[in-house]
Amino acid sequence: MRRIFVAVTAAMTFATLPSTARATPCLVVTLTGTQGGPTVFNGQAGAGTLVSYGDDSNGCAAVRLQFDAGRGTSMRLSQVKVTPVQLSAIFLTHIHGDHTEGLPDVLALRWYLKGSKVDVVCSADTVTRSGSVNSCRNYVTHIADAFIRSGEVAERLSEDRERLAGGPAELANVLTFEPKEEPQLVWASGDVKVSAVRSTHIAGHASYRVDTPAGSVVIGGDASNDTPAPPRSHSTSDQVEKLAQGTDVIVHSAIHPVLGPDRGQRLPRADLLSAERSHRPWRNGKASGREVLDVDSSCSLARHCTTQSLGRARRPSHGSRLPQGR
Ligand SMILES: [Zn+2]
Repeated sequence: MRRIFVAVTAAMTFATLPSTARATPCLVVTLTGTQGGPTVFNGQAGAGTLVSYGDDSNGCAAVRLQFDAGRGTSMRLSQVKVTPVQLSAIFLTHIHGDHTEGLPDVLALRWYLKGSKVDVVCSADTVTRSGSVNSCRNYVTHIADAFIRSGEVAERLSEDRERLAGGPAELANVLTFEPKEEPQLVWASGDVKVSAVRSTHIAGHASYRVDTPAGSVVIGGDASNDTPAPPRSHSTSDQVEKLAQGTDVIVHSAIHPVLGPDRGQRLPRADLLSAERSHRPWRNGKASGREVLDVDSSCSLARHCTTQSLGRARRPSHGSRLPQGR
């Protein structure tokens, strides 16, 4: 039997996973941040998803993949007892700051703790409509420049010469790919395979899918509809739908209608991630019989995203229903 867990970390204690007599493959999906956009709101961390795979013998943690690293990622990881050193690879959906501004912290801490080099997977340089270039590679290459200029890196090197001389950027093994209309394999380790597809947002945006023997999860990022403004036949991403065929969990950004910036609520824009599970083609809530951990309604209306408000979802098999987050 395979097991899948979905959790939201904001202020949580992650319970010890139950053990069984024989090693059972398992997958844990943790939202490390759900705040969208540059604003700060009630302590929410920026977008990020931790996908952990393994079995009972290693606490579902043989492979840990971090997708996006918004503000506060290292703090949220610490709440599930994960340090940046333990990440197996890092993936970025796009270079918007709310998905990347926690990465300098993650890599700096990994460097400080003398962690090994880590793959950072993202799209290749892409020219925008205005002619500028969105460059994940440049971002990572220069990720600690300010701390090199300030003398911080030299200070830490003088404390311990075993740290890499090039600073945190030297830790990152940047692997880029050209986002395509069809899903392509972009990273693999043992039984874990990560594929990506081009999706609509800013230039170079990609959505990811992780396949493991314990199940699969899709991380949509900020993917939106190809039609930029209504009327649309549907509101979700065709590319993410294609990528998500048959998947177990979808992590995708959503804007709660009452919190939209033009709804007169005087509330900060709150793009919130929702984790969904569907056995059938997914179309933004129109699929009947879907099982949803409804993060957006719970988080936005309760103003905090905790497992206390959501309940920690354990789904021992297909067909079990998630607790509703309202
Ligand atoms: Zn974005």
